[in-house]
Amino acid sequence: MTSTATAQNLSFVLEGIHQVKFEDRPVPELKNPHDVLINVKYTGICGSDVHYWEHGSIGQFVVKEPMVLGHESAGVISQVGSAVTTLKVGDRVAMEPGISCRRCEPCKGGKYNLCENMAFAATPPYDGTLAKYYVLPEDFCYKLPEHLSLQEGALMEPLSVAVHIVRQAQVSPGQSVVVFGAGPVGLLCCAVATAFGASKVIAVDIQQPRLDFAKQYATTSTFMPSKVSAIENAERLRQENDLGAGADVAIDASGAEPSVHTGIHVLRNGGTYVQGGMGRSEIHFPIMAACSKELTLRGSFRYGSGDYKLAVGLVSSGKVDVKKLITGTVKFEEAESAFKEVKAGKGIKTLIAGFDS
Ligand SMILES: [Zn+2]
Ligand SMILES: [Zn+2]
Repeated sequence: MTSTATAQNLSFVLEGIHQVKFEDRPVPELKNPHDVLINVKYTGICGSDVHYWEHGSIGQFVVKEPMVLGHESAGVISQVGSAVTTLKVGDRVAMEPGISCRRCEPCKGGKYNLCENMAFAATPPYDGTLAKYYVLPEDFCYKLPEHLSLQEGALMEPLSVAVHIVRQAQVSPGQSVVVFGAGPVGLLCCAVATAFGASKVIAVDIQQPRLDFAKQYATTSTFMPSKVSAIENAERLRQENDLGAGADVAIDASGAEPSVHTGIHVLRNGGTYVQGGMGRSEIHFPIMAACSKELTLRGSFRYGSGDYKLAVGLVSSGKVDVKKLITGTVKFEEAESAFKEVKAGKGIKTLIAGFDS
């Protein structure tokens, strides 16, 4: 344990499963004239951070070297590179934590979230944002309007995930949208779908407290699946919500196999299904229904061109409220307790305040 009183750049480091420590690391240097140094003020904890803390890996990403956790952050600019024109010291920004190479085919094709050389915070081997300082290129920082707080700024990351999912679903005014999973991303998908003009937004979850929250947050109704087949649950979902032949759009933000099945079955012919949740890497899948209904099936990964900008715009204009999702803030020195709370399913979004010393 480092003496925190004299730390230059106190960082929250994952060394192994459930093994974390505070380490004073050198203040990172600007590597490029377009880089800025950010004093991180708030960081949200998400499922992937907790997964690394608990298992030391996600799929093929394995923590081999000690790694700083965290990727949902906002902060204040404390230094700017010589070529920076859009930001100045003191600006408050939401931080987009994945830097694409700008050179590969997907990058050049405008889909930089699919970059083949992505350096993403807190995805091995890249350090995350749970440190006092973090470096980003200026165009990965989004200036917060005066009336938005840095706490709201930290929520732009999960909101951008939701924006990307709802864009992948091409939700348009008047449509019916069923969202599976009422965790932070599912709730934000409901809010974005509502902002995009969906006339019915139905949240599905197996935890009543989550549905109770969803009921008063950006949904028209909620649904608790019964222990019956996916086809039967889909049928009741359609009937209870007057969806006629089926929903226009189904979004999975849970990663759970029964949700995927119900999502496929609740759609109308020609509907759109988007997979946003990450659960088991392989599942059984109702491929016949997907085929015969001629569904459009799409994946969704992180966020890309314009997603952060739209996220800030949606909150700034009051169309999406992210404040309601913040259920607790802990001090930097108590970072690990935030992981335990998320693991225990306490609250919706726990923030870790920046190290202030
Ligand atoms: Zn996240
Ligand atoms: Zn690239």
